[in-house]
Amino acid sequence: MVKETGYYDILEVKPTATDAELKKAYRKLALKYHPDKNPDAGDKFKQISMAYEVLSDPKKREIYDKGGEEAIKGGAAGGGFDFHSPMDIFDLFFGGGGRRGGGGQRGPRKGKDVIHQLKVSLEDLYNGATRKLAVHKNVICNKCEGRGGKEGAVQKCGNCRGTGMQVRIQQLGPGMVQQIQSVCGECRGAGEVIDPKLRCKNCNGKKIVKERKILEVHIDKGMRDNQQIRFSGEGDQEPDLEPGDIVIVLDEQDHERFRRRGNDLIMTMPLELVEALCGFQKTIQTLDGRTLVVTSMPGEIIKHEDVKCIMGEGMPIYRDPFEKGRLIIQFLVNFPQTGALTPQAIDVLESILPPRQEVIVPDGAEECQLQEYDPARDGADHRRGQGMEAYDSDDEHPGGQRVQCASH
Ligand SMILES: [Zn+2]
Ligand SMILES: [Zn+2]
Repeated sequence: MVKETGYYDILEVKPTATDAELKKAYRKLALKYHPDKNPDAGDKFKQISMAYEVLSDPKKREIYDKGGEEAIKGGAAGGGFDFHSPMDIFDLFFGGGGRRGGGGQRGPRKGKDVIHQLKVSLEDLYNGATRKLAVHKNVICNKCEGRGGKEGAVQKCGNCRGTGMQVRIQQLGPGMVQQIQSVCGECRGAGEVIDPKLRCKNCNGKKIVKERKILEVHIDKGMRDNQQIRFSGEGDQEPDLEPGDIVIVLDEQDHERFRRRGNDLIMTMPLELVEALCGFQKTIQTLDGRTLVVTSMPGEIIKHEDVKCIMGEGMPIYRDPFEKGRLIIQFLVNFPQTGALTPQAIDVLESILPPRQEVIVPDGAEECQLQEYDPARDGADHRRGQGMEAYDSDDEHPGGQRVQCASH
């Protein structure tokens, strides 16, 4: 049991979530609430980042599960952890982001990467696919070549002399002055002004225009959830900046029949008891539309939750697509319902099935009743009921749960 579920709720996962589930939840939400796409959701983006930072680290997750948010923020234990900025976590997750190398990088400055998520079915990842994706991006205005106006229309701002900042000196008292720096009011920080008459009509002096572009995304056989496809230099253009990349992040959708684990596919196969005992023949539709037949011979007994596999019928291996993983089949045996067998049928079964073992009941053994088990109730409920009810189990049960006989 975890102390509180706040961080799990933020990521919309259960406290039992696996690492992969956390990653997927973070990816989905971080892209949705990233300030680039959702400028008003800054707080939400921060919360998501923080929750993910804690839960993705086994040590921090353990501390959070035991002590909640207070423990992780360092109240109880003292120290506490240093949290990274939400953008750092995002860049780390999606591999670097736009500003590579951080501070002292050489070469031209590079714009930010633009990240898009692309939903892909398991069929797409099995067979390979090409998908067209429309993206809107900023491009340098081709009418004015990114100047914002006709040649010579752009002048250095006289007010701030091109710095974009203006400094005001305020006299506070005799001999006391204060310097106040603020964004230049004339050019709004741009450092330059464009003569309105010569301003470019195409971009309205902004130097960039929005453009719709269709990207062809090639999904190769065997690609995985979260795999990235990078379109180099296709990010937003900005004057004096090398454009970043457009990064497509694959988002594998759940499949109704198969679950993927690495290169393996996992499926369940329901069996009737007669099939489990007397053999069966079943068909399986593959992700590329073929039909497989599996046959079990009479005498080969399949138990409930037995697992078997078919080699070479899993997912194709990325960049080696003629090789495939395994198709793993978990059998779920349908037992007949209570009451479905007549006394005669039971006699017949008894005579066929391997004989039962005789049980010796010692004197003083306590008679117990088997009840439906409710996993939602925990041990504390048991103990509370025990003192009163453990020894009078043959009168009617007042709605309580009494699985505890055996332990006493
Ligand atoms: Zn223009
Ligand atoms: Zn100015």
